[in-house]
Parts: sequence; structure tokens; C-alpha cells
Amino acid sequence: MHQRKRLGVLTSGGDSPGMNAAVRSVVRSAIAQGIDVFAIYEGYQGMVEGGQCDLKNPRRVAPDAEACIRQLHWYDVAGILHKGGTIIGTARSAQFRTREGRLQAVRNLLAHDIDGLVAIGGDGSLTGAHLFRSEWPELVAELLEGGEIDAEVAERHRHLTIVGLAASIDNDMYGSDMTIGTDTALHRLTEAVDSISSTAASHQRTFVVEVMGRHCGYLALMGALATGADWVLIPECPPEGDCWEEKMCQVLQAGRESGRRDTIVIVAEGAKDRHGNPISCEYVRQVLEEQLGEDARVTILGHVQRGGSPTAFDRNLSTLLGHAAVNAFQTATPESESVLIGMRGNRVYQAPLMHCVEQTHAVSQAIADGDYDKAMNLRGENFKNAYQILHTLMQAKPSNPEPREGKPLRFAILNCGATAPGMNTAVRAAVRLAIDKGHTMLGVEHGFRGLIEGHIKELNWLSVRGWATTGGSELGTSRKIPQGKDFYAIARQIERHDINGLLIIGGWSGYQAAYQLYSQCETFPAFNIPILCIPASINNNLPGCELSIGADTALNNIIEAVDKIKQSAVASNRCFLVKVMGRYCGYLAVMSGLATGAERVYINEEGVALTDLQKDLSTLISGFKQGKRVGLIICNENAHPVYDSDFICDLFAEEGKEVFQVREAILGHLQQGGDPTPFDRIQATRFSAIGLDFLIEQAKRPSPTGAFMGTEAGNVRFVDLGMIPRMVDKEHQRPKEQWWMETAAIGKILAHYAPPIEG
Ligand code: ADP
Repeated sequence: MHQRKRLGVLTSGGDSPGMNAAVRSVVRSAIAQGIDVFAIYEGYQGMVEGGQCDLKNPRRVAPDAEACIRQLHWYDVAGILHKGGTIIGTARSAQFRTREGRLQAVRNLLAHDIDGLVAIGGDGSLTGAHLFRSEWPELVAELLEGGEIDAEVAERHRHLTIVGLAASIDNDMYGSDMTIGTDTALHRLTEAVDSISSTAASHQRTFVVEVMGRHCGYLALMGALATGADWVLIPECPPEGDCWEEKMCQVLQAGRESGRRDTIVIVAEGAKDRHGNPISCEYVRQVLEEQLGEDARVTILGHVQRGGSPTAFDRNLSTLLGHAAVNAFQTATPESESVLIGMRGNRVYQAPLMHCVEQTHAVSQAIADGDYDKAMNLRGENFKNAYQILHTLMQAKPSNPEPREGKPLRFAILNCGATAPGMNTAVRAAVRLAIDKGHTMLGVEHGFRGLIEGHIKELNWLSVRGWATTGGSELGTSRKIPQGKDFYAIARQIERHDINGLLIIGGWSGYQAAYQLYSQCETFPAFNIPILCIPASINNNLPGCELSIGADTALNNIIEAVDKIKQSAVASNRCFLVKVMGRYCGYLAVMSGLATGAERVYINEEGVALTDLQKDLSTLISGFKQGKRVGLIICNENAHPVYDSDFICDLFAEEGKEVFQVREAILGHLQQGGDPTPFDRIQATRFSAIGLDFLIEQAKRPSPTGAFMGTEAGNVRFVDLGMIPRMVDKEHQRPKEQWWMETAAIGKILAHYAPPIEG
């Protein structure tokens, strides 16, 4: 008889936000593929403790509400996407570290006839998982020899499939660009440091902030970059020399003298000096007090960084990885190695688990050995570059008044299109990095309108102080696309201000404007300068770029609002229809739908048909009749010209009135507002740094090019502006190819497939 496959899922080690989303995704993806799923509560400890155990009749385990291994059904994982921690519990298990403990774990898994495990945890948990799989055949043989299991059970369970998902707020796992929980921890850290900065500025105080990361400086480094901190200490790169304290004090003192009101020093908990001695926050505080006479305060962020609702990124990362883990389990053969499912360059990526664990340990070892170059190299290029950029941005004043090579250049910088959170961060980085290289940066107010009218002024190091963390656009922006005699006016301004390059940070209209200048360069020789567009739009509708600056903030704004709306809906059997921005691009709708567990997402790319509406309506009616308490539909603002959100609301309200109520929520401009998320700040800084180098390099050429910047599979690339017409769907103002459309299908599986409640 064909038996359904059985998969166990556990969360282990330190908890991290997003673990619930991963569990939900594993459970639902598995059920949708006809696999039974068992939660192993309390991590490996639960696997050792098990529960009812009848090894001779594996599929006949009597239901026991207290058992640590229990089957999960579709609705057991409902309503958990937004919750921090893990609903199936996690633990550290000393017993599992022993062979006897692991033998007991084998008994318990065999008692439930489990064929594979998805282990969600940090490098310790994944090391344990790998060891368990390696030992599995001999442990099963031992049970057979001891007569505890019969030959048939032993034969059926010759191997255990293991799929690992890296969950750790430290982002310390090799094999995945981001681990589950890191983005949320960075949010908590950034919120806290932003708050500390405002009180520090009021009292002109210095704060020394300790953040998590015993062997990994990711949170400290990226947190410092995102918050515009003044000094950072991380384990991978101890401060140079024996007099680092003096150097730190000089830089902080110079910052004060330049008018900075607050000073923030971020210290990773594992920070060390070059001799391997720990650097504690208290020590840094004492140094500042003694050498600068500063009234410094210490704040240890601690477990706040682990807690709270996961961010949109963490929910979606976990969901995609969980889904891929089930696919990996399905396709695994007895010969295949255990794998880690991670994210590389914005795509799901699979790598041998043991290799990833070994490489992860190699970084800790390099730090322990004092081989810091190796540690930094193992962390990768982005980490190293971020460290360099941070050190320039932290300075109180530019280090190079003259360019290292060539003549000083004059660049103009402007924001275009609707505001996108992160625009200011990008401008700040570009201005400071350009000045540091000996060039001049001219700020243009209100986009192309300002360029035409000549609202141009030189920006200096301090003009952009405080811009790293604020939303909106300090320069001002506009949707103006030049036409007719505007081109002559722009050419005049370029000549008048002796502009050698144009840096446009903005959205659709900025790209169109840049394309116009590029196309007119034969008529107006002044346009023969490098022009670069850096993508900044909450809609994420720009060609050649997977994630534009601002989209992550908008997505988080949406999910925070939707979480609240959902909570209010539960009390009264309501279905909410939430209308989100995006123009004709469904990115925000699809990604927020995935992150909030929406039943249905309507987007312009897929259209809306009457038959869909009928089907969705009857699914909702039957769901509410079966006890569902809340419904959620997300609708892009231009999903359909006729069947718009008002129409759908009226239709569902009328047809479903016996069973549920319908309410519409139009989120509007709150999606564009607020301070940028850490991701948007980091992305903005990174784009500006790379974009500026491109402009400088192009400005030296006799025929410089115009380009827009983007990412593909995580790598930054430059595309000639002339490619715009070929890459965009002009009518719908979006790229022809949109990578995220694949994820829409996963969202549908996880929200749609709802077999009847069993048992
Ligand atoms: P994290 O997974 O967050 O790194 P730990 O390092 O504490 O957390 O590991 C969690 C659990 O994984 C441990 O309590 C232990 O049960 C199991 N584990 C870790 N390392 C091993 C190992 N080398 N062998 C067996 N089990 C291990």
C-alpha cells in the first residue's frame, strides 16, 4: 500500500523572528503536496523526549496532547505569520549532544514513521542535524539488533533526509546572504538607536550601544551604517594599532567640534582588540569619560533585538525557504547530501549543509586565531565594502581635499518622481563620498524643475548631517519630465555650473527624463556627460532593478497596517479588502499578500476576471461557514479598470452578507512615508557608493555614457539608458520582466489550498 510521506519540522537553538513563517510554509507546502507533517516541539529536546512510542506499530501512535511530536494540520498554522518567536517552541538540548540522546530521538522519529526533517536554527542546530543524519544508519541498525524494531521498519528508514534553514539574528551562516530573523533584529536595533540619537542630541550626550553578535559583526556594522553612527567595533575587524582608543577619541572629538550634537558608538558583544582582548561597552564608556570628559551612557540592547513581529523581508524569506525545503525533501534521494536552503542574490539557493556549517565555523576560528583578514574575506565583498564606506561616512570632515587622481569634478544630484524613503540616505552617501574623493557635489532642488530653473547649490559635508535616517526628500522632488525648450534651459545650467555628471535618484519620471537627455545629446553637446539613475521608488517598477530604494519601507508600512486591520477584523467575521499602491506594478500587492497571508491578491499583471471573483467569493463564503474569522484580500490600485476595489467590495458585501461583512481599507500615502527601513538605508548607501565610482570613471572618458543602475541576482549592474524602451512596458510603466512574479504562485498555494479540517 502506498503510504503518505511524513516530514518532521523543528525550531532549535536561539529563537529568531520569522521562524513561525517558516513553520507555516513548511506545513502548508507539505500538506499541499500530500505529505503529513509533524511538529517536533521544543527542538531537539522534544525529539529526545518524544511522547507515546510504539515502535512496532509506527503509524498507530495514540494521540496525546502533551506529546512533543504531534501532527500539524492546515489551520494549526493559521494566524502566526506576524508573531515573533516560534509557536512550536525551541530549546537547547544537552541530551541530544549525547549518543544515547540521539538514539532515543531515532526511536521517537521511527515511532512516527518520519522520513525527513526540516531543521530551522542556527549553526549549532544545523551541525547537530548533520551529525544526526550521519549517525542515523548505525543508530537504526542498533535498534534492529536490539530487537526494538523489525527489519521492515529498518529497511524503510535506512536514511533520514535533512533539510536545514538558517535562522539566526546574527546573520552568521555561510550559504545564505541573510538568515531568518536578521532583518527584524536590524529593525529593532535601528529603531532603538534612532530613539537614543534623539535623546542624545537633546542633551549633547554620547551613547555606547551594545548589540548582539558574539562572532559576527553584521548587526553592529549594518546597524551603524543604517543609523549614521559615529564609531563601530566588530569582532572581525578589531581597531588598528595599540592606540585605537586615542584614534576613536580624536574622530569623536572632531565630530563634536564640527557641530554634531549626539555621538553614538556601536559595539558588537564579541568586539575584541588586536590582541584578542574583549572590548566591553563599559571600557569604551570609561575611555570616553577619561579622554574626552564625555558624560557617556551605556545601553545594552540585549534580547529586544530578538523579539517582536517579523519584518516583511523575514516573513517572505522564511516563507520562500520553507516552501523550497519541502521541494528539497520531495526530491531527495538516499544518496543526496543534507542541504541548506538559503538566499543568494535574491534567489533561493541550495548548498551542502556540512560545507556551509564548516565555512561558518571557519570565520569564528579565523577570529579566534587572530587572522582578521581571513575573517573579513570569508564574510564576503559586501561586508568588506560596507566597512570601508562606513569609515568614510563616519568622519567628521573629508579626508582628501584633492582627488587622488585626475582633476576635481563637479556633479549635480537630484531626486525625481514621488518620494521614496531612502532618497535622503542615498544623497548623503553620494555627497560625502564624492567630497571625500576631492570632488564637488551640487544639490538640485525639486528634480528637473529645479535643474531647468537653476535651483542649484553646493552641498558640503555638514549639509547632509542627519539625512541618513530620515524619510522624504530634503532636496525636494518633482515628477517633471523636461520637454521642448526645457532642454535648452538644462544645457545652459550644465554649462553655467560646469557640471561634469548628473546623478538622478528617483523613480519612473527620473528615468524618462534621463532617457530624454540621453536621446538629445547630439542636439545639445552639454548633455554629453555621464548620467546615472539610481532606482528609488516604492513601487519597485523600474527596469533592471530587482529592489528599488523605498520599496522595503513601503512593504513594511503596509504589513504593519494590515496586521492591525486583520486583528480588528477577527472580532466580527469580516473580510477586508486592502488597496495598496504600485501604479501598474503588483510588487507591493504580491509581497504584502505573502507577508500577511492574504487569501487573494489582485494585480494588473494577472488581471481580474468575473469567474475569478465568483470563485474567490464562494471560497470565502465556505471558509467563513467553516469557522474562519477573518478574510483578507489585497488589491493593487490599478488591478482592473472596471473590477476595481470598490466594485469587488460591493460585490462581496452583497453576495456574502449572510455570512460575513466586507470593509475596504485604502492605505494611501502612509505607504510612502516614514523613515527608511535598515534595508533601504543600506541599499541606498551601497548604490550611491557604487554609482558614484561609475560617474567618476565615466567622467574621465571622451564619450561618457548614460546608464541606470540595478541589481540582478544581487549583483549591481549598469544598463545603458538606450535600453529603456526595450526593457519596459511603457503603457503600464513597469519592467517587462518581473522576477517576483514567481513568488505570487507560492502565495496562492499557501493561502488557497485549504483541505477540510481533519480529525
Ligand atoms: P544555535 O542553533 O542557535 O546555534 P546552539 O548552538 O545552542 O544554537 O544549538 C542548539 C542545539 O543544537 C543544542 O542545544 C544541541 O541540542 C544541538 N547541537 C548543537 N551542536 C551540536 C553538536 N555538535 N552535536 C549534536 N547536537 C548539537
